[in-house]
Amino acid sequence: MSFDTVLVANRGEIALRVIRACKALGLRSVAVFSEADRGASYLALADEAVCIGPAPARASYLDGQAVLMAALATGAQAIHPGYGFLAENGDFAEAIEQAGLQFIGPTAEVIRLMGDKITAKAAMKQAGVPCVPGSDGALPDDPAACAALAERIGYPIIVKAAGGGGGRGMRMVRSADELATAVATTREEARRAFNNPELYMEKFLEHPRHVEIQVLCDHHGNAVWLGERDCSVQRRHQKVIEEAPAPGIPREAVAALGERCAAACRAIGYRGAGTFEFLYEDGVFAFIEMNTRVQVEHPVTELTTGIDIVREQISVAQGNKLSFTQADIQRAGHSIELRINAEDPFTSIPSPGHVAVWHAPGGPGLRVDSHMVSGAEVPPHYDSLIAKIIAHAPTREACLDRLLGALRELRVEGITVNADLHRLVLSDHAFRQGGVTIHYLEKRLEAER
Ligand code: ADP
Repeated sequence: MSFDTVLVANRGEIALRVIRACKALGLRSVAVFSEADRGASYLALADEAVCIGPAPARASYLDGQAVLMAALATGAQAIHPGYGFLAENGDFAEAIEQAGLQFIGPTAEVIRLMGDKITAKAAMKQAGVPCVPGSDGALPDDPAACAALAERIGYPIIVKAAGGGGGRGMRMVRSADELATAVATTREEARRAFNNPELYMEKFLEHPRHVEIQVLCDHHGNAVWLGERDCSVQRRHQKVIEEAPAPGIPREAVAALGERCAAACRAIGYRGAGTFEFLYEDGVFAFIEMNTRVQVEHPVTELTTGIDIVREQISVAQGNKLSFTQADIQRAGHSIELRINAEDPFTSIPSPGHVAVWHAPGGPGLRVDSHMVSGAEVPPHYDSLIAKIIAHAPTREACLDRLLGALRELRVEGITVNADLHRLVLSDHAFRQGGVTIHYLEKRLEAER
């Protein structure tokens, strides 16, 4: 479908990222904002900006009807959802298509299929993608039947919400006597947070790494994979540092997995950008979920492949074929991203407020994706991510040093950011060696206490 104006249904750094991609393609962009973001400087970079409601996300960025109205009122024919908010909401994608506009992403049907982690795992299993062993379906109401499932999988297990996201709605269970309570608590949480009480069970892996595959597909059946990212440095199941390539994993194993992901995309009629997330333990990859949108950590893939993922995402939504084939994709060097959050580095307590001074680092091999400027406000209502510092260098070692240099240059006054957490990790022996597991950061912080 052809379009010349894109509404950017998001805020902050990703809104700015999408506005830039629109400019690169010669498209008009329409930004939306809540009352809390009224003064944000990136809004001026869009061709037009529209207020869609009050500060609480529920009444603005999560209000699909308000976003759709803004698109219709400004003549936007396409909507880019960014990540978070409405990005993986099948009903929103459907409403946009029904209004005759283009949703920049997969079809509503595919979003729903992959948004429910139970159906996603079933679809991936069928497509030949290796999955974490588990309940293969929703947990039954009968506690005895649940207990039998857990026995079969073998403790420890993890109870997860089918509609879960953002690291919430998950509970590890070590033994049979904890199971019933864990299931009941997680079900209640899932009902409240995701409006979907359905749960499933998986083997809890004790020392995996989080490794994911980036894919990109057009509307003509072409699907490619752009390499992997290692996102094992996490806290409360939330990513903190991401890198490409994943240190120490054989290239052939990654390539074989990438091919399977691309084949799975063709099998389910996937289109746009997407990510298959895996746990990697003892040389084995096991699928946990798919994200049907652009991810926070996409820049490390962009820097190692030279491909502009967001631009390509918009281009395929216009009906264009992918501008390259799998054979054209070359990967070079190493890239690492630091998520700069407005929060205390060690307690993670949010630190919103007035940013008196913002000075971003720069120099060769450094990219900063951020909507911050001196005088900006960080509202308390949204995610605390305010910037991403991304380095690219021929070697991982050089990349790490570049990031340490960048942190020395970064100046933020007025709010607290998590720079000290990054300093600690970047200087840590285990992390510098590469290949840490998903439990590394929490254990490292415990040792610090
Ligand atoms: P979300 O959608 O909330 O991000 P995921 O299913 O992607 O949830 O899991 C998030 C993180 O939780 C993973 O990166 C990993 O650290 C941990 N996790 C998920 N499943 C398992 C498992 N079976 N064993 C161990 N850790 C897990």
